[in-house]
Amino acid sequence: MSSPANLDLHDIPLHKLYEILLPVTTSKTAFANWAKTFVCTPLAIFEPRNEYHCEVILELARREGKVVRVAGVGHSPSDLACTNEFMLRTTYLNRVLMIDKEKRRVLAQGGITLHHLHAALAQHNLAMINLGSISDQTLAGIVTTASHGTGIDYGVMSTQVISMVILLADGSRVYCSRNEQPDLFLATVCGLGSTGLILSIELEVEPSFHLKEVLESRCFKDTLSNLKQLVHSAEHTRMFWFPATDMVCVSMLNRTHETKRPGGSWFYDSFMGFHIVQLLLFLGIYLHIFNTLAVFLASWLVSAGSSRVDDSYRVFNVDCRYLQHTTEWAIPYENTEPCLRELDKYFHEILVDPRERPHFPIEIRFSAPDDIWLSPSHNQQTCWIGIVQYKPYGFNIPYKKLFEGFENILSKFEGRPHWAKAHKVGPEEFRDLYPHFEDFLQVLQTVDPKGLFRNEYMQRHFFGQPVDGRVFKPRK
Ligand SMILES: Cc1cc2nc3c(=O)[nH]c(=O)nc-3n(C[C@H](O)[C@H](O)[C@H](O)COP(=O)(O)OP(=O)(O)OC[C@H]3O[C@@H](n4cnc5c(N)ncnc54)[C@H](O)[C@@H]3O)c2cc1C
Repeated sequence: MSSPANLDLHDIPLHKLYEILLPVTTSKTAFANWAKTFVCTPLAIFEPRNEYHCEVILELARREGKVVRVAGVGHSPSDLACTNEFMLRTTYLNRVLMIDKEKRRVLAQGGITLHHLHAALAQHNLAMINLGSISDQTLAGIVTTASHGTGIDYGVMSTQVISMVILLADGSRVYCSRNEQPDLFLATVCGLGSTGLILSIELEVEPSFHLKEVLESRCFKDTLSNLKQLVHSAEHTRMFWFPATDMVCVSMLNRTHETKRPGGSWFYDSFMGFHIVQLLLFLGIYLHIFNTLAVFLASWLVSAGSSRVDDSYRVFNVDCRYLQHTTEWAIPYENTEPCLRELDKYFHEILVDPRERPHFPIEIRFSAPDDIWLSPSHNQQTCWIGIVQYKPYGFNIPYKKLFEGFENILSKFEGRPHWAKAHKVGPEEFRDLYPHFEDFLQVLQTVDPKGLFRNEYMQRHFFGQPVDGRVFKPRK
């Protein structure tokens, strides 16, 4: 008798499919995102060890009429990766498949984390071209959400993708690139896991490099007056804004041949900047004066100005501190100045009430235009503005009122929300914001007509179905 692996999947009885998957069905029953702001309890969580397991999971879902949500390491601050049905986690689909030093390309499975990718690339003296604040995410996770770093001439990270292999809802395996199946490629490269399971990604990389970071402290007014010059003054400019002290810490990163000089101090960065600030934020929940002390301390700690040189990925990444609520929006670059002015006015109104104080810093970053259908940088030079409300020691704090006012201002300036972060934007607005929104839906109709990959987030934001945005909020 032939083993199940030799049989056509259609010929394997249902109970056998469950048997095949038993060793890769985890005992965990719940999934929470990194910040513990969204939690779900899928019917089953699978951690496939190979592509055959992935095919079996899709076959099982088709037969049982269940949705499959692919999840990486769950760092999306929204319910983007959540589902109540089947979850496929890519924990073990994490291998580098090929590195071509000459052509500066790497081929890796979608579930590899960026930390592991950096290490593998470094062995061949290669590195990623641009990066965001952390490297904990999976490669497929950053690609499908158009996650971004900073640099007015550098695209979001999905722009580094050359080709992909995708497992579609019907179980077929498709290779796509800008030349082959370009519609599927442009839909998937920021497709939120809804066009199919990304098995592998071919990525453009560059020879490994050191980055020099120069930190400069400026008052808000001065930063605005010199905005264009500052944004263009480095390959990668980012800004950390402290509205309560009217201070902006400008971080300018450039490639350099200088030797490593990592800098940093345990006392100032870790003890004061992390532990004491967290304690003050925690005390601030009960006695609001401590919120004021926290922001003044954090702002003072970065006010001195400094510089360091280190491996690119160490300098691109920053300490994201504590569990947090967050929202981030992308606006056309030319709207940056008026938008920041209006935000400044808004934050100063809010600062009067210490309970609603914005935490810090407000992060301001930039990216180059691209042609990816759902990239928030589609067709436009972009300024990204993000705010956080920390949860010191995991305790909750108010954030909804603050975020609502922030989002209203960003919307006014033609803002597009970060796909991975919680927002309230629906298909009608997305049709106006994205010229290829209908093309994207058309691709979904072709490759996944029954909505196998369509979780609650997709139903709500893409199909306008009444799925409550709080459905996966943890219950007290
Ligand atoms: C502390 C912190 C810092 C961050 N910094 C930045 C930043 O600097 N810039 C930025 O833009 N974003 C940032 N993010 C957001 C983050 O980059 C995205 O949420 C990213 O998607 C997380 O990757 P993940 O592996 O956790 O994916 P998950 O959150 O698990 O999933 C995200 C999406 O990817 C899909 N997906 C995952 N794997 C696959 C696959 N193999 N095939 C198909 N679909 C797949 C999922 O279905 C889901 O739609 C940050 C988040 C945190 C928590």
